[in-house]
Amino acid sequence: RKNARKGCSGQNIKVFVRCRPMNSFEKNSKSFGVIECQNNRELVVRDKPLDKFAKTFTFDRVFGPDSKQIDVYKSVAKNCVDEVLSGFNCTIFAYGQTGTGKTFTMEGDRTPDTTSWDEDPMAGIIPRCVNHLFDELRIQKLEFTMRVSFLELYNEELFDLLSAHDDMSKLRLYEDSSRKGSCIIQGLEEVLVRSKSDVYSVLEKGSTKRQTAATLMNAHSSRSHTVFTVTIHIKENTVDGDELLKTGKLHLVDLAGSENIGRSGAVDKRAREAGNINMSLLTLGRVITSLVEKAPHVPYRAKNIQNKPEVNQKLNKKELIGEYSEEIERLRRDLMAMREKNGVYL
Ligand code: ADP
Ligand code: MG
Repeated sequence: RKNARKGCSGQNIKVFVRCRPMNSFEKNSKSFGVIECQNNRELVVRDKPLDKFAKTFTFDRVFGPDSKQIDVYKSVAKNCVDEVLSGFNCTIFAYGQTGTGKTFTMEGDRTPDTTSWDEDPMAGIIPRCVNHLFDELRIQKLEFTMRVSFLELYNEELFDLLSAHDDMSKLRLYEDSSRKGSCIIQGLEEVLVRSKSDVYSVLEKGSTKRQTAATLMNAHSSRSHTVFTVTIHIKENTVDGDELLKTGKLHLVDLAGSENIGRSGAVDKRAREAGNINMSLLTLGRVITSLVEKAPHVPYRAKNIQNKPEVNQKLNKKELIGEYSEEIERLRRDLMAMREKNGVYL
């Protein structure tokens, strides 16, 4: 966001990578891991053992397969929560192919027999942020209200995961004429929450709703984005005795699977033929690229996007691996370049 203060770390944008451990299927089939966490900043991608064409990518932090939810939270999200408490807006996106651990990282898993997310080591970024927010608000004895919303974007349509209706009716998006660049989602439920457990039950309700849709529709969850938003209003008294209302927003986004979008924003030919183009994800990539390139027009609207003629027809495994590594590189480079630029804050 324009004019945003630089984060606690002095940087507006940070890019992290997390590699999940191999699952039992991958282990049983003796799969070769194509990525290796060299150290806590560098990731090596190779397509065969001892590959001399291995590429190294640098991130703000690399989390290896043994990384714990708490470590990821501390490095990635904790600062954002402190910024939100100071009245700033922060967004955390989880980006990656289906099955790479986006939902695990954002929401987490529930350990059987644990009663609350408070104590669960498997809790992801969302419950941990909520936990920290409530703790800080209590410690600082702040007068506040907190609201949460949880929406899903599927097939370029918005659904309210917290709506009381079972039918998942579509929501409409309007541009906010009073504030340039911002949008209003008509009818989006913004639930007032008073405690951690209020938020946990809201999160679970929304996740269950998403899960139901996923069982009804094949591959639904890999094609949808979810946005969990926490809005806090904090009342403060200034030295002159005036009352000041500070607003902070935290957007926690679990993006759709990136599998169909290749380098330079081109859409995989197979995906295009199957009608699997995720326009909003494609648009997000192009918006970031345009912001980095300081393009005169930033294509926020999907309808402004035309698919580039270049089509990627490489299908064999080796080339696909090369492509994913280029995709990581492209995203990393764009985000890093954005970080360099003052005044752009996602
Ligand atoms: P995505 O949301 O990106 O499609 P998921 O979060 O659903 O992927 O993860 C796929 C599977 O891998 C899940 O069963 C999840 O529990 C597991 N998983 C993902 N990341 C990790 C991790 N870091 N450690 C252990 N298991 C993980
Ligand atoms: Mg997921």
